[in-house]
Amino acid sequence: MMERSLTKIVIAGGGTAGWMAASALARFLGPSCSIHLVESEEIGTVGVGEATIPAIQLFNQSLGIDENEFVRATQGSFKLGIEFADWNEPGHSYLHAFGAIGRPLGLLPFHQYWLRYRQQGGSVSLWDYAPTALAAAQNRFARPQDKPGTLPSGVAYAYHFDASLYAAFLRKYAEARGVIRTDGRIADVKLHAESGNIECLILASGEVVRGDLFIDCSGFRGLLIEQTLNSGYEDWSNFLPCNRAVAVPCASVDPLTPFTRATARDAGWQWRIPLQHRTGNGYVYCSDYVTDADATDILLSTLDGVPLAEPRQLRFVTGKRSQIWKKNCVALGLSSGFLEPLESTSIHLIQTGIAKLLEFFPSSGFHQPDIDAFNKAMDFEFHSIRDFVILHYKTASRSGAFWERCRNMAIPDSLAEKIELFCTNGRILRFNNELFTELGWLQVMWGQGLRPQGYNPLADQLTAEQLQEFMHVAARHARHVAEQMPLHQQYIAANCAAPPREIRKASS
Ligand code: FAD
Repeated sequence: MMERSLTKIVIAGGGTAGWMAASALARFLGPSCSIHLVESEEIGTVGVGEATIPAIQLFNQSLGIDENEFVRATQGSFKLGIEFADWNEPGHSYLHAFGAIGRPLGLLPFHQYWLRYRQQGGSVSLWDYAPTALAAAQNRFARPQDKPGTLPSGVAYAYHFDASLYAAFLRKYAEARGVIRTDGRIADVKLHAESGNIECLILASGEVVRGDLFIDCSGFRGLLIEQTLNSGYEDWSNFLPCNRAVAVPCASVDPLTPFTRATARDAGWQWRIPLQHRTGNGYVYCSDYVTDADATDILLSTLDGVPLAEPRQLRFVTGKRSQIWKKNCVALGLSSGFLEPLESTSIHLIQTGIAKLLEFFPSSGFHQPDIDAFNKAMDFEFHSIRDFVILHYKTASRSGAFWERCRNMAIPDSLAEKIELFCTNGRILRFNNELFTELGWLQVMWGQGLRPQGYNPLADQLTAEQLQEFMHVAARHARHVAEQMPLHQQYIAANCAAPPREIRKASS
């Protein structure tokens, strides 16, 4: 007998995860499935999460969202990468730039030729071949307008946006496509006596919300996946010891930089995320090495504009839910796990969770092989991002007790192998289409100070003159692309400036 399709999805929580899920499910499931989202204004959202990676463009495009409209509505700005400052000695910085660095030739990636070039005395920085890095250094931005018959520009970008405005923007999108929203506190969750599946949510008002599939977007508390279904949590704080953050917005300053900044501090690192109407800031730290009060003082004393709100304290344990999908419940967002925001990956993990849920979308039977495959895929995503984030801590040469601990900590074998391979001949192994590309790994490994002993000997196939010319053309192309861009601020003013009324309202 054919199983029936699901007819009712319930989403618990209306932060970034809840509204991303509601929008995507409404878009891809259509009217055959009703979607009911319950959120509590009284409880509120986590209120941070404003830097993204380029893949978010795919999410917005899949919903048919107009990019200018979205940037305007969310007080957004463009992001060409992340600048890591002071992770080695004070004053040292490098960019993890999105987009290309040079171009591959034959069987080899660009950096293998660059490694040979350097060994033979070439002194040009890796980032002089990266159009986005050059543009970021000059505070320039433009969307790539690649033309047939010309070299691709090599520019890729993401966004900074106000998280609460993004949720509001998606709410409008989802409600216009039939999503029902209830403002109310979920007071209880009822399980089916035989199957152990979630049967319904019971709100404090007494309202009962029934469903076939439940999506837990309730944030760190994991109201359904943990508090009800006891999925379990893999704690990764032995690898990533930061466990707190303090966040505060401040007034914008000129210029409007097109990148996130992550500045290392004595007990962690500080983010700076420039939006149109304000700058988001936060200090992510390990409570063994600094008190909450001192962390707040450090944050407030290093802002580049006046604070616009009281600092907000947050606590977390880095790790992931043991089963992100259990029974008839799928966790998305903070309820599924948390990797600190060093590489701006949490919103991406929501997007991945939604994509995988659609790929393994259940019928009423909820088959275990589908659930297992989803969980395996999400495990892989979390683990590969975790390794990339650990890399920053393990290889930072900054002094101090916290950093000493990070340098001496044991790391996963998967990461140790990557580091060893790079340090031998500069090779980078990207497993199974993992999120961060060879170029991401390359920039962080090189930027943090790892140096390969050699390079792939296939790079010797170019003559010295050919190599010189190849490098020269790549650097000229990168400069040309960057110089053609207007200033980031000018680009926004011409294309997607938020209306002044919203600027006043949002920063008051
Ligand atoms: P929340 O925003 O916490 O939403 C939870 C929802 O559940 C709310 O609507 C709440 O009202 C509702 N809820 C909870 N309990 C109940 C109840 N009993 N009844 C009814 N409703 C309930 N990610 C990035 O990608 N980039 C970043 O730069 C970044 N920076 C971060 C910095 C920090 C310090 C932290 C902690 C996180 C950061 N993140 C970042 C992660 C990002 O904030 C989250 O991934 C994102 O905001 C999604 O959160 P959420 O929707 O899962 O949870």
